[in-house]
Amino acid sequence: MIKPDGVQRGLIGDILKRFEQKGFQLLAAKLMTPSREHMEKHYADLAGKGFFKGMIDYMMTGPVFCMVWAGDGAVVTGRKMLGATKPSESEPGTIRGDFCIQIGRNICHGSDSVENAEKEIELWFPEGVCSWTSHSQGWIYE
Ligand code: UDP
Ligand code: MG
Repeated sequence: MIKPDGVQRGLIGDILKRFEQKGFQLLAAKLMTPSREHMEKHYADLAGKGFFKGMIDYMMTGPVFCMVWAGDGAVVTGRKMLGATKPSESEPGTIRGDFCIQIGRNICHGSDSVENAEKEIELWFPEGVCSWTSHSQGWIYE
């Protein structure tokens, strides 16, 4: 997901492009402004943290761009492509390493396990995702 700061800063295209060029397959994408309840559900595991309210307020400041990407290792590799949560620790070449400075404005979210990805897909795309065969399949996988 591209957070409101990433959307406002015009980074949707750059971020989406990295996943597309990597070879992952886009199954769904949309720009949406979630309700507070929706956002709190998404970050329910962080509910007890001191930064929770400020983080939810930040996530409510504008639309977010949600995507579902598929492919071998999409979760593990996707997290590496995002970079460390704290941008000061994100390697150059990662999205956070290249595009942001502070943890509270770290421009993107990525599911941290396949199980959580499945839950998040259900939360963000209750309408379902697309199923399609990419013509590049045979050029990306042996
Ligand atoms: N966050 C924050 N302050 C902190 C830790 C986290 O503002 O001290 C925010 C930050 O935007 C982060 C989000 O809360 O991306 C979710 O935290 P998590 O630990 O799940 O990191 P992520 O999975 O996004 O790397
Ligand atoms: Mg997380």
